Parts: sequence; structure tokens; C-alpha cells
Amino acid sequence: MDREVFFRFLQSFSEAAPEAELRLGEPMREHTSFHIGGGADLFVLPSGEEDLRTGLRLCRAYDIPFFLLGNGTNLLVGDRGIRGVVFSMSRLSQVSINGTRIRAGAGAPLIGLARQAAQAQLTGLEFAGGIPGSLGGAVMMNAGAYGGEMSRVVRSVRILEEDDTVREVPGEEMAFGYRTSRLMTQGGAVLSAVLELAPGDPEAIRARMRELALQRQAKQPLEHYSAGSTFKRPEGYFAGKLIQDAGLKGYAVGPAQVSEKHAGFVINRGGATAAQVLELMETVRARVKEQSGVTLEPEVRLVGEF
Ligand SMILES: Cc1cc2nc3c(=O)[nH]c(=O)nc-3n(C[C@H](O)[C@H](O)[C@H](O)COP(=O)(O)OP(=O)(O)OC[C@H]3O[C@@H](n4cnc5c(N)ncnc54)[C@H](O)[C@@H]3O)c2cc1C
Repeated sequence: MDREVFFRFLQSFSEAAPEAELRLGEPMREHTSFHIGGGADLFVLPSGEEDLRTGLRLCRAYDIPFFLLGNGTNLLVGDRGIRGVVFSMSRLSQVSINGTRIRAGAGAPLIGLARQAAQAQLTGLEFAGGIPGSLGGAVMMNAGAYGGEMSRVVRSVRILEEDDTVREVPGEEMAFGYRTSRLMTQGGAVLSAVLELAPGDPEAIRARMRELALQRQAKQPLEHYSAGSTFKRPEGYFAGKLIQDAGLKGYAVGPAQVSEKHAGFVINRGGATAAQVLELMETVRARVKEQSGVTLEPEVRLVGEF
């Protein structure tokens, strides 16, 4: 990327969106649950939808690459960081509840939304009580757990399309599938979404959330940095079981390790690099393929330069 073009972009953007917070060279390890990742050329915290729209318009005008960051809980960011602009959605996080509907900004934390739904005596979002992403990231990934999935509760999604139009897309048109949505293929930024829940018994909702939290604590290495399940569940198998059967539980490349508690999670025991995690993932894929013939596909998204 041309430095001069970059600085012209920077100047135009700071003039057009004075409320947005801009940080140069921000270390991405501070914004990912893996605690891994080099610097972003420019890290932007838009104060609202208009800032984001202005920023994306200018990126297109100056031909500068960009990345949309939710809560950074499904990412492996390269050690050399991210070229161009990272837009953090964290300040687009307003929440309003109207009857059985919740409208929330893309940056709203999913765990908080699940709690707010419970407080409002609404059922349907209990499954999300332990998923540490943002609403936007969860819609993009069609996040799910314990039989629940975003596709079942999303009524509509307000999307800033790549051609700069804003559309309220009905849930049925989101092309939700296993850990995928139309955003993966067609791009666009989730600005906000409406979730449709149902009235429920507050005690039953709280009990279900407690039960799921205990199951997570018992089975998942929540005490370590990770990005959740490293690989997608292959049709008819469980990634963790395949990895365990390949004798890889506890296998490590430096501080990057296949969790002893749950082989489906790669954990960072402290100071792991993206290169080490990648090497570990490649070994796991190769050995599982050799052992069982199954090809594991990463669920974690690889971003930036490695
Ligand atoms: C301990 C732990 C447990 C987990 N458990 C689960 C689980 O049970 N089920 C599950 O499905 N996942 C789980 N995850 C993974 C992760 O939380 C989900 O994939 C989540 O949906 C990612 O959301 P995020 O906001 O962190 O997205 P990020 O990791 O920031 O980004 C993920 C992708 O979404 C895109 N994106 C983010 N925001 C937007 C937006 N507003 N518009 C368009 N694109 C956007 C990003 O560009 C990126 O491609 C877990 C992770 C951890 C660390």
C-alpha cells in the first residue's frame, strides 16, 4: 500500500468522521481471544453507523483493504498484522427490547444479549449465553451451540452492502448454513439485527443457562486463551474425537497446544505466535487425514499476514 495514499486517506477520514477513534499500528493481540496477532496499519473505532459508512466509502475510493472486527473470538491474526484498516464494531452496541423482539447493534456482546433476554423473560437465546462473540460476528458465522443457532432467532439483519446501500434483509434471505451466512459469500457489514424470541418462564431460562455454563466449564478449556473450536465439525464426526483418536491431545508447537481438556480447541498457553498455531493446525490436519481419511476445515478465520 502506497504510504502517501494511506496518509491522504487518513486525513480525509479524520476530517469526515471526527468522532471516530483512530489508532496507528494497534496490536491485534489485544483484540483477539487467542491473544495473538501483529499490528493493524490503522485501527478504527467508529462512533456509529455513519462513521463506519464514511470509512468504508473512503477505503473503496482510495483502494485500501479493510477488515471488520467483531469481538475477535473466532480469529487467528497473522504475526505480521493486518494491512489497511480494521474497523472495530464495538461501539455500535445499542440494545432495545420491544415485546418479544430485541434490536441490537452489531457490536453488542452476545453473552450480554442472552442475559438481557433472560431478564426480559424471553426464551430462545439461552444457547448463546457462553458464546463470547459480538452479535455481528455471530450472525456472520451463524454461531450456535447445544442445539441452538442464530438462524433460529434472527428475524432480520440491517446490512451495509458493498455498493454502499443499507438493506434490512429478512432472516430467510440470510442463506444461513453450518457456520456460514450470505455475508461470507456476498460481503457486507452487519449494522444491527432484530432477534425474535418468545415469552418464557424466567426460572426455566435461568436454569437452562446455568446448566449450559456448567457443561462448558466442565468440557472446554475456558481458563486458556483460544478462539473456540479450531475446526468445523465434519459431517458425521466430531473434530475433537478425530484429533484425540489421532493421538494428538496435548500435542504442542511451543506454547500453542491441542487442549488436554478438549482436543477440538487449540489453546495459547502464553506467548504463542500465529505461525506456531498454524503449524500445529497443519500437523493436526495431516495426521487426522492419515488416520481417519477425514479432511478438517478450519472454523477459525485466518486474517492478515503470517
Ligand atoms: C471460549 C470460546 C467458546 C466459543 N464457543 C462457540 C460456540 O459454542 N459456538 C460458536 O458458534 N462459536 C463459538 N466460539 C467462536 C466465536 O465466539 C463465534 O464464531 C462468534 O460468532 C464470533 O464472533 P466475533 O464477534 O468474535 O467475530 P470475530 O471473531 O471478530 O469475526 C469473525 C468473522 O465475522 C466477521 N464479522 C464480525 N463482525 C461483523 C459485522 N458486523 N459484519 C460483518 N462481518 C463481521 C469478521 O470479519 C470475521 O470474518 C467460541 C469462541 C471462544 C473463544
